[in-house]
Amino acid sequence: MSEMRKSNKDKSCKSKKKHPSGESSIKEPFFSLYREALMELFFPLNVYCHICKGPLPKTAPTSAAAYQAYLCPFCIDEIPWIEEPYCKKCSIPLFEHLTEHTPYPEEILRPLPSPKDLCPECRADSPLDRNLSVCLYEKPLKKAIYAFKYSDKTYLARIFALMMAEKLRSLPREDQAFDRILSVPLHKKRLRRRGYNQADLLAKYLSTELKIPYDPGALIRIKETRTMNQLSKSQRSPNVRDAFSLSKSFPKTEKILLIDDIYTTGATAKAIAACLKSHGTGHITMLSIARVML
Ligand SMILES: [Zn+2]
Ligand SMILES: [Zn+2]
Repeated sequence: MSEMRKSNKDKSCKSKKKHPSGESSIKEPFFSLYREALMELFFPLNVYCHICKGPLPKTAPTSAAAYQAYLCPFCIDEIPWIEEPYCKKCSIPLFEHLTEHTPYPEEILRPLPSPKDLCPECRADSPLDRNLSVCLYEKPLKKAIYAFKYSDKTYLARIFALMMAEKLRSLPREDQAFDRILSVPLHKKRLRRRGYNQADLLAKYLSTELKIPYDPGALIRIKETRTMNQLSKSQRSPNVRDAFSLSKSFPKTEKILLIDDIYTTGATAKAIAACLKSHGTGHITMLSIARVML
């Protein structure tokens, strides 16, 4: 049985002798933090709210988190933040928390928290130890996240990364410590088409903000998978099976913070986590901007 499990694990992550995607050479074709900083000198980000395009207050409260310099108080109030109680593994809000911001039908509401604060789905074993999401993938942030991902609004990476950093800082200190940041990679063909990987941009800012080293070339997407938003829940795991590889030089690492923009079923995160665990990683937490309620 343990042999079988081992061989399955090995299959989930194909070790490569060299980077087959050549991603190291196309790491940042259109984006660098320096270029973005220079752009901000001429086009400051804190002129209008990046959700409603309305004016920002002249002065933010001194206790405000850094992202509040870029969003108006009205929009901040409208965001369906994921707050306690939520599942400690996948961040799905548990029954009591659902408010008028989360108009989901009764049948998908989760029951009250178990003693370990896990939703029913997360009581089964998973290679991914935890997903943390800032808010639900709903109005008013949904449009901005979509524009960030598909319409070249790369400057939003900084604001989203500040929100994600704040989420991490809200946790107990021991849950904030990571050895390394990785981001969910795109296949090289999709990266060429899009010109940037939104998860990579977030990871760069988070690395600076959290002072945790980021290894952009460690994970490689070796299989060209179908776009997940075209697939049903049950089609997602098979779509990303064997899709990821680790660079040969990646060291055995204890705690990894994996970055992506949106968490839906966790199929991608779990495929990557299986790959990392087969190479000896101890613990993997995913951090995403938004979580879809599926
Ligand atoms: Zn606003
Ligand atoms: Zn859960």
